[in-house]
Amino acid sequence: MPSIISKLFLKKEQVSLKATVLSLFFFITIILVLLLISQLLYFSKKLSYESINLKLTTLVKDIQTSMTTNNKTNANVLSLLSFQNSANLKFYTKILENNRSLYAVYTGYSNGSFYEVINLNIHPLLRKIYNATSKDQWLLIEILGSKPNEKKVTLLDKDLKPTSFSITENTYNPTLRPWYKNALHKKTLIKTKPYEFSNIPSKGVTYAQQLENSEDVVGIDVLIYDIQDILKKHITVAYMDAYLFTQDRLIISSLMNDNTLLELFFKKHSSFKEFETPQLITLNNKEYIVQILPFKNTNSSDYVALFSKYDNVVAPYKQQTYVLIAIFIASLLVLIPLIIYFSNIIVKPIYKLVEQSQNIKNRKFDSVNNIESPVLEVALLSASIKEMSNAIYSYQHSLEKKVQKRTQELSLKNQELLKLSITDKLTGLYNRVKLDKTLQDEMNRSLRTGDVFCVILMDIDFFKKINDGYGHQTGDDVLIETAQVLQKLLRKTDVLGRWGGEEFLIISPLTSLENGVKLANKINLFVQSHPYSTYKNQVTMSIGVAAFQKNITKPEEIVANADKALYEAKHNGRNQVKIFQ
Ligand code: GH3
Ligand code: MG
Ligand code: MG
Repeated sequence: MPSIISKLFLKKEQVSLKATVLSLFFFITIILVLLLISQLLYFSKKLSYESINLKLTTLVKDIQTSMTTNNKTNANVLSLLSFQNSANLKFYTKILENNRSLYAVYTGYSNGSFYEVINLNIHPLLRKIYNATSKDQWLLIEILGSKPNEKKVTLLDKDLKPTSFSITENTYNPTLRPWYKNALHKKTLIKTKPYEFSNIPSKGVTYAQQLENSEDVVGIDVLIYDIQDILKKHITVAYMDAYLFTQDRLIISSLMNDNTLLELFFKKHSSFKEFETPQLITLNNKEYIVQILPFKNTNSSDYVALFSKYDNVVAPYKQQTYVLIAIFIASLLVLIPLIIYFSNIIVKPIYKLVEQSQNIKNRKFDSVNNIESPVLEVALLSASIKEMSNAIYSYQHSLEKKVQKRTQELSLKNQELLKLSITDKLTGLYNRVKLDKTLQDEMNRSLRTGDVFCVILMDIDFFKKINDGYGHQTGDDVLIETAQVLQKLLRKTDVLGRWGGEEFLIISPLTSLENGVKLANKINLFVQSHPYSTYKNQVTMSIGVAAFQKNITKPEEIVANADKALYEAKHNGRNQVKIFQ
């Protein structure tokens, strides 16, 4: 872009079209990117929360189904046992064998007797506690109501043969136990809340039922270990942990077997209500999405909690978000050269248009050309500027012609005016203005070159009488005809003018006094012999002649000298020539 145009058209507060288009593009782009980021982040968070919610909901359903099934199985087992009036080792072991989650089967009698069979395979710790060998499979505990202070513990192998036994002091009274007391006089079975078993690190529940037609109660202890299998089945990633716990905050099962996170959570939060939808919380300086759903068990309300590390859950969605944003920005970057290209298509011709208007301003009409542009509006504008240029050119041309004509007319008028200003209206001779000027010029020339010049002052004799006797008009006619007579007698270089009323003056350049006198005499003769057309009588003139002398300093002086000679001519009888000596 030429620098003059840039100076003229780009003031500080103005911006170019290209800059406007580009900045608008960047502004919109940034807004779009921000919108996209916020939307994607919002949806990635929402999606991750929803996936957690879905996972936990199906998990809870599965646990609930499993628990219902277990309940039914256990209730069936207990129902079978309740028909057996006396404890039976074979029967008890058969039941234990068939149900892997059964820890023990036992009966408490109203007389204080107690009979319990425990499955040693249920946990390795059991063998340690009871000094059992790998051959031992069953543990039988017997208390007789008749000997309440003794407890007999027998180890049995898989064929139910006793391998060893011990008798220890007993403090256990089955009739005082809650399971016994609760089941007594109840028509259906009872089920305890989940609790921690004393011998093994497991949780479980006790089912108990009063035997038919007696005050004896049969019970089974069931492990809740299969929950962990369900948790494992549902949660396969390392950054999630799930817990099953009771309303009393007893943790029944956890996926990772590490309860520290949930215990920490319990310390901080007293209510779980708000966690029915996923919530973001910080534990141990780490962010977790926590959701806790309650579910109904037969006689306790339990909860399943899902803890997910926020970063890991949101990470895949975030990554997807970044990929999308990167693609978006890349496509915008591809757009930038396109925008620059298209803005150039418009902007470059605009600068050319500016140049054209500059050409018009500088009257270089020949340089105003049509600008080729694929943009219709620019082409239209260019054509319009070209037309405007032509119109201005032709207008200016006609204006110039008019001005020229007017100037000519004016100079003619001026010439006429000049002529009028130095012409006497009546006679057409020069007036006093021209005579004064000529006198000054001639005097200046004579002073410079030393040449001589003559003045001849003439006055018509008794002119008043013509006026008085024949009228003013006749007087005018005489003046006009006298002027014509004088005019004919002069040389081209002589200047004749009307000096005053009926007085005339001739300035004769480069003329000696002698020659001036000759001319004066000639005039005198011609006038007195001239037959006037409207005046019958003779017209005479008195004439004074004076030549330029070196001592003269003002032009009036030489006329005054001629006037003195004229006065002398009048005085001397008129109709004669007198010379100023
Ligand atoms: P003298 O011989 O002493 O010159 O007598 P004169 O009558 O010519 O001189 P005077 O000065 O007494 O009279 C001049 C007269 O010329 C007076 C004036 O009315 C007349 N006059 C001056 N200008 C004009 C003019 O333009 N037209 C006419 N018709 N008369 C004029
Ligand atoms: Mg006079
Ligand atoms: Mg006179």
